[in-house]
Amino acid sequence: MATMRVLVTGSTGLVGQAVQRVVSENPTEGEEWIFVSTKDADLTDFEATEALFQKHKPTHVIHLAAMVGGLFRNMKYPVDLLRNNLHINDNVLYNSHKFGVQKCVSCLSTCIFPDKTTYPIKETMLHLGPPHPSNFGFSFAKRMIDIENRAFNKQYGCKFTSVIPTNVFGPYDNFNLQDGHVMPGLINKIFIAKRDDTPFTVWGTGAARRQFIYSYDLAKLIVWVMREYEEIDPIILSVPEEAEISIKELAEMVIEAMEFTGEVLYDTTKSDGQLKKTADNAKLRGYLPDFKFTNMKQAVKETVDWFVNNQDIARK
Ligand code: NDP
Repeated sequence: MATMRVLVTGSTGLVGQAVQRVVSENPTEGEEWIFVSTKDADLTDFEATEALFQKHKPTHVIHLAAMVGGLFRNMKYPVDLLRNNLHINDNVLYNSHKFGVQKCVSCLSTCIFPDKTTYPIKETMLHLGPPHPSNFGFSFAKRMIDIENRAFNKQYGCKFTSVIPTNVFGPYDNFNLQDGHVMPGLINKIFIAKRDDTPFTVWGTGAARRQFIYSYDLAKLIVWVMREYEEIDPIILSVPEEAEISIKELAEMVIEAMEFTGEVLYDTTKSDGQLKKTADNAKLRGYLPDFKFTNMKQAVKETVDWFVNNQDIARK
């Protein structure tokens, strides 16, 4: 008889697929895992969410589902990103309370932090100023998760918490050139350049620096948070500050992993975005000083191989 029934929302996505891998590699006695996506319930719909909780009666929830989008989608549809995410998050958290869930772990993002800030970013800075205007709808909806976590804890003693990942990458990412993030975009562009024998163009100068976390490492950390982390306050899940790399270094890693030998161009008319967004993983290191992140080159290679070998199912 399972003592923990863990419901994972958004389980078909980049992070959810990695959680499925971690759980299947390390089955733990007494844990039952239920992986759901839009096929099981549209979480923007209160009744559908309630029916999902009624059906599965989870004791724990890992809440990954979100309406996400790149810069273009964020700028064009701020109402949809704000309202859909507010509804998804409120429906999941309210029903977690209603059905007596013992712990709920939700996902924030470093991209929702104040636009004007000091570096490195720390967990305590989340509400210390407005987010970047380009994604304010998404950001304020996500920030409300932390507000609800505190409110549910204060009024009902619920153990609802959140994690804050930096840029995630890995198999099952969205490789669409308009909508996707930087790493899957570079991979798909090189794939096309190889196929069509055309140059590979990186947008911007390549100088911007970012911390990338492999979805497999992130999934291990999220499962650890679900099992062991007892705080309501969020925790940044990131590689260390020293592991921050430039987009140029990243492009070179992808080029090597894909064995691309064609011409490489940098379109400097395109914006670099914020030059850095360094996050501080001191809190995580305090808890797990010995956690080993996958070597970046190896993680990039695994992601590239997955994309090349799964053209039929990859989102692109
Ligand atoms: P994906 O876009 O890869 O996956 C999104 C998941 O959410 C899918 O399983 C999707 O289901 C589900 N979903 C979307 N809308 C609904 C809905 N209305 N009802 C039910 N399920 C829904 O996202 P990621 O895996 O990249 O992101 C997971 C979490 O991590 C998100 O909360 C995101 O904000 C956060 N995050 C991601 C980062 C990144 O770099 N990717 C960085 C930091 C945080 P379906 O497949 O059926 O559509």
